Amino acid sequence: MLDAVLEQARKNDAKSVTVVKLRIGALAGVVMEALEFAWEAVSSDTIAAGSRLDVEHVPVTCYCSQCQREFESRAYSYRCPVCGGLSNDLRRGRELDLISIEVT
Ligand SMILES: [Zn+2]
Repeated sequence: MLDAVLEQARKNDAKSVTVVKLRIGALAGVVMEALEFAWEAVSSDTIAAGSRLDVEHVPVTCYCSQCQREFESRAYSYRCPVCGGLSNDLRRGRELDLISIEVT
């Protein structure tokens, strides 16, 4: 992730990175406190030092083929709230994407 951020910063001719925007799915297994701690550690010697992580959390979303609609999974249940059918079609929730960065 740091490499991707630094590469974008280089492309933008940046002096420093202030904000890093990420999209993280509920199933990506990311603990925010751990991520922030790790980010501070790996970025400390780079132009991204002191940058803030701005995280967009993506809920787990499944598709119900019965109702032909997507629904948000709650409490790790993949049961459709409308028909009660079990979905095995996970559409979102595993993301770990770099969206954009803000630089100066
Ligand atoms: Zn359904």
